[in-house]
Amino acid sequence: MAGRALEALSFDNSYARLPEAFHAKLNPTPFSSSPYLISFNAAAAELIDLDPAEAARPEFAGVFGGSLLVPGMEPLAMLYAGHQFGVYVPQLGDGRAILLGEVRNARGEKWDLQLKGAGLTPFSRDGDGRAVLRSTIREYLCSEAMHGLGIPTTRALCIVGSDHQVYREQVETGAIVVRMAPSHVRFGSFEVFYYRKQHEQLKVLADYVIARHYPHLAGAPDPYARFFDEVVERTAKLIAQWQAVGWAHGVMNTDNMSILGITLDYGPFGFIDDYDPGFICNHSDHNGRYAFSQQPYIGLWNLSCLAQALLPLAGKDELKAALDRYTPVCEGWYMELMRAKVGLLDRQEEDAELIQDLLGLMHQHRVDYTIFFRALGDFRSAPGDPNDGLRDFFLDRDAFDRWARRYAERLRAAGSRDEERRARMNRVNPKYVLRNYLAQQAIEKAQQKEFSEIDRLLTLLRNPFDDQPGMEAYAAAPPNWGKHLSVSCSS
Ligand code: AMP
Ligand code: MG
Repeated sequence: MAGRALEALSFDNSYARLPEAFHAKLNPTPFSSSPYLISFNAAAAELIDLDPAEAARPEFAGVFGGSLLVPGMEPLAMLYAGHQFGVYVPQLGDGRAILLGEVRNARGEKWDLQLKGAGLTPFSRDGDGRAVLRSTIREYLCSEAMHGLGIPTTRALCIVGSDHQVYREQVETGAIVVRMAPSHVRFGSFEVFYYRKQHEQLKVLADYVIARHYPHLAGAPDPYARFFDEVVERTAKLIAQWQAVGWAHGVMNTDNMSILGITLDYGPFGFIDDYDPGFICNHSDHNGRYAFSQQPYIGLWNLSCLAQALLPLAGKDELKAALDRYTPVCEGWYMELMRAKVGLLDRQEEDAELIQDLLGLMHQHRVDYTIFFRALGDFRSAPGDPNDGLRDFFLDRDAFDRWARRYAERLRAAGSRDEERRARMNRVNPKYVLRNYLAQQAIEKAQQKEFSEIDRLLTLLRNPFDDQPGMEAYAAAPPNWGKHLSVSCSS
């Protein structure tokens, strides 16, 4: 089907029809100088039936740079609250994001379009309503990289830049990333009405979310507990995926947790380079609350906040029972993913220990997580087969050899054929991930108005499991300067 023109996108905004308490209606604030397109993602455009040729029109940067509206848009900032670093903050809300509305595609799916960095809203608190170019590039690239990895996430349509000055630690320029998701409702969207004791509104929100995103539960007995149960399941599986791919979110506050179980709000995230379960990607997280290894526990903690907010709608026992499913689902899913990463198809009792011991060795010897798992596909399992390339990852070769003997035995017992296993492992162990330094290189070029590196990474990360000729450098270990880049919350 031929794509649509901008003006012909089928816009609606069902969130705008919810009671006044849910949002503040307002238009984006245009930049102080003309917006220009920095990068366009045709894969996301396809989701809303948008003709990719539209990106070349000046109106495109106008619409997604916050200075033009198209028919059917009804811009608003969403209200929410949330627990930030364990502390309840009674009012957050979109302080710099503006929901334009939802586009319905020919398949009947609806996608919220949101401008992040589009100016002040009534929820801006001390902020300026803007996002700096570097943070929009990080969100844009990482959300598409996660999608490429098969991890549920918000998507990103484009980045629109400007020469509008924004003040952080230094003067930077403001940009907008256009985010897309079936919904931007967060755990904190429920919390705000619970803590305000607005139980009517709480029910309206739950009914809205169920009707739109969990329609099979509408009219079912006990719909709110069942809704929660599904959020538990999706969140548990999502976090298992983060753990298996070696990705840390960095700011798992309840306002950054999606009720669809998709990765939401990319800030100081990071992919692990040298494996370290204590990895903290957020420079401001002094106590390591959101350290990599803590994420599964924080997922549960955040879900318990959501459960509490749902108490006026669902039975305590039912909510508790759903919450109790979290750990087994998350751990079970993680084990499935890790088994696949080491190329095992069947399940054996001993697998957990085999995998834990490998991770322990990788930690001890500071082995690069992504590179090693990709290389492990080359493991040869016949007795006496050399695995020199793999043992060289470890300072203590003997320790690796001891592990390798167990692994080889396990593979042989499962009747694994090396070539077939290698192909299977390459479909789950990515060759390319968005390491911080890769994003940083694209950012530094973009700050000099050279945007091609963004597009190059976008294309690369769309197919992270494929060997891409000429792109080997992007699969290499980070240079030393790139290993310890600190990323702050300043964005
Ligand atoms: P985050 O840590 O990015 O998830 O943001 C937490 C809260 O701060 C959200 O309510 C954001 O909308 C708000 N916020 C972050 N940066 C800004 C900014 N520059 N201007 C206004 N609000 C902001
Ligand atoms: Mg946020």
